[in-house]
Amino acid sequence: MSDIIKLLPDAVANQIAAGEVIQRPASAVKELLENAIDAGAENIKLIIKDAGKTLIQVTDDGIGMSDTDARLSFERHATSKITQASDLFAIRTMGFRGEALASIAAISRVELKTRTADQQIGTRIEIEAAKLEVQEPCNCPKGTSIAVKNLFFNTPARRNFLKSDNVEKRHILTELQRVAIVNPEIAFQYYQNNQLSHQFNKSNLKQRIAHVFGSNYNQRLIPVEEETQIVKLSGFVGKPEYAKKVRGEQFLFVNRRFIRSPYLNHAVELAFHELIPEDAFPSFFLFLETDPGQIDVNVHPTKTEIKFQDERYFYQIVKSAVKKALGSFNITPTLDFERETAFDRPPADGRSVIKPPEIKVNPEFNPFGHAGKTGHPGGNLTSRINPGQWEKLFPGQDDVPLPEEPISSEQVTISPEWKEGNEDKNGTKFFQLHNRYIITPVKSGLMLIDQQRAHERILFERFQMIQAHRGVSSQQLLFPEHIRLNDHDADILKEIVEEVKSLGFGINELGTGTFVVDAIPADIMEDHVLQEVIEGIIEQVKKNRLELKNDLRANVLRSTAKRLAVRHGKALSHEEMRAICDSLFACSMPQTSPAGKTVLKIISNDDLSAMFK
Ligand code: ADP
Ligand code: MG
Repeated sequence: MSDIIKLLPDAVANQIAAGEVIQRPASAVKELLENAIDAGAENIKLIIKDAGKTLIQVTDDGIGMSDTDARLSFERHATSKITQASDLFAIRTMGFRGEALASIAAISRVELKTRTADQQIGTRIEIEAAKLEVQEPCNCPKGTSIAVKNLFFNTPARRNFLKSDNVEKRHILTELQRVAIVNPEIAFQYYQNNQLSHQFNKSNLKQRIAHVFGSNYNQRLIPVEEETQIVKLSGFVGKPEYAKKVRGEQFLFVNRRFIRSPYLNHAVELAFHELIPEDAFPSFFLFLETDPGQIDVNVHPTKTEIKFQDERYFYQIVKSAVKKALGSFNITPTLDFERETAFDRPPADGRSVIKPPEIKVNPEFNPFGHAGKTGHPGGNLTSRINPGQWEKLFPGQDDVPLPEEPISSEQVTISPEWKEGNEDKNGTKFFQLHNRYIITPVKSGLMLIDQQRAHERILFERFQMIQAHRGVSSQQLLFPEHIRLNDHDADILKEIVEEVKSLGFGINELGTGTFVVDAIPADIMEDHVLQEVIEGIIEQVKKNRLELKNDLRANVLRSTAKRLAVRHGKALSHEEMRAICDSLFACSMPQTSPAGKTVLKIISNDDLSAMFK
């Protein structure tokens, strides 16, 4: 048999490469934008017609190309960015394979105009299906403009696989966003069918994110910073309450390159664990800078996946940096608070009639057992983190203007829905609405706290502490109690008994569905009937098991916190409300319940003014 292996002609080889690199118009957009960035452009214009099917044009004011380079740039493996194999591990540019322009030119008609700063006259080139049609001098500004016309005109299969214009446009916008976010110092203009559709001026990162995703992002972002010898991590994560139901705004860049990494995404998501509902996805814009030798970017045709030398290290850094950022965000509402005291006392216009609240509150009532005495429903365990931190939310004593005349109780009508406690020693007032919300004025407006979720958070963190220091907070019962369970519940309790014990319960099985409880977590069980508590925990564990994928330990912890938390419908005394606030703001994550629900909201003074416009 004669030899049958032949080398493919360049045009065919390029088409094959194109199949990998240029899958849709958005891929060409990405490659052209990246070339402009590599060329040091400060202004980049993207023009699209018919979702990129008719025209994709990128114009930049970068370094441009000489006429020889202009011709060479369309050759396969022609690149100015690396010269030898070892350069592959020192890559600082977006491109390095010299494949993109060759691929694009193989499957479209390309017009290139380019000029370097030191030349008077530029070069114009036309190429169709990898064949040079025209090369001539031309007048053009410094920089490069590449117009890609009729993409996929000679690869009908690819063309037929394109999705609707809307879908393709979405892909293009996504590519533009990725490039724009990581290059805030570059201005972008995006035209669709001759109309300016997006314009991003030069800015800093945070402003750029707001330009790209909307100005409300300014308030939604928490900064993340971390630096080690190996990696510098910076960027932002979205506040937990803005987590999305679909995986959307998740941007991870390594050395300014957008990459997909389910592994590192998981690190971020893990940091958000317990802060957002299980089915929600956090937003993040994270930038990792590392020595190029730490990573291999040459592992994927579109360069959106990379290999790390030590991926676990990066995982740990990302996770802990995000956790730290989320933790410190939780105490930073203080930063949002201005010295604004207009809302510290009710408006006294003299016309309204005042009646004292009509509902009597039992001042002895305390859902937290001894907590009233210490002021901390979580006992001294929760006060470890930042006790009294929340007080900074309130006007300090010295910046509260004393009313010239004390407001008499005749000046304001208080609906019987409101239960007001006495002012406490700091002059802070708490109100309870519908036996459900604690309302209290803060410097920047009015804070509303969901009492049940708040207490769940407090107990949750408290139990976490107890688990960590096993046995610290148990209270021995003088008279051990017997509880009886049905077979099914008894089986579940047997399964979770070690976890329940780790929270401070002393439980032993006596057999045939009977258990004896001889110790309970200190300070929080006074008001509860043991049998009900244990049944409630089991019930909650069953429910969580269906809904959540938590491990057993987390499930029991969460279930117990939920079961013991003060319910909606419970009237709270002023002291209890204060205790909840106090302990809540001593938590590391006061803003969300263990199930990821919102615990508190602040109606800002601006919102209030707007309401009364
Ligand atoms: P790569 O980016 O991997 O080097 P490309 O095929 O994208 O390969 O580009 C080939 C070469 O053409 C680049 O290395 C660069 O020298 C040149 N080039 C491409 N686009 C531009 C541009 N917008 N401005 C200046 N030079 C460019
Ligand atoms: Mg390139």
